[in-house]
Amino acid sequence: MLTPCPEADKRPPCGNAVRGALRNPMKALSPIDCCPCGSGKSLADCCEAYLVGAIPAPTAEALMRSRYLAYALGREPYLLATWHASTRPATLALETEPQPRWIGLSIKRCETQDEDHAVVEFVARYKIGGRAYRLHEISRFVHEQGRWFYISGNIKR
Ligand SMILES: [Zn+2]
Repeated sequence: MLTPCPEADKRPPCGNAVRGALRNPMKALSPIDCCPCGSGKSLADCCEAYLVGAIPAPTAEALMRSRYLAYALGREPYLLATWHASTRPATLALETEPQPRWIGLSIKRCETQDEDHAVVEFVARYKIGGRAYRLHEISRFVHEQGRWFYISGNIKR
């Protein structure tokens, strides 16, 4: 069943635009800044609560967005915690150089297969050493014990 991304149409104006903020991931983001995941919501109304562990991401799309932000901020514990145990790597080596600078996310498609399985297709843009790249991936997610987990992704070329 193809369904529109549940969060795609909700684009209330957020506080401060933070274009390019993640080029320096150490820059402190304010809760009223636009969430760097591109949802159009403020950080406080979007990924922040998921990243700090206050509440689990309620949808596969929300988890996908928060994992993008976790990559951008180098939050390896969050990435591992939201990775399904069956496919989770031991480490992500996010300290190893060169790390990409994540500069944008766009969600292309969300597909709900049943209540506990979903697919999210996205394009994430990043730079390494001044060169721009894009990662186009179709990711699979599973819902278990009230939480969504990333299982795996197929990269589209
Ligand atoms: Zn977000």
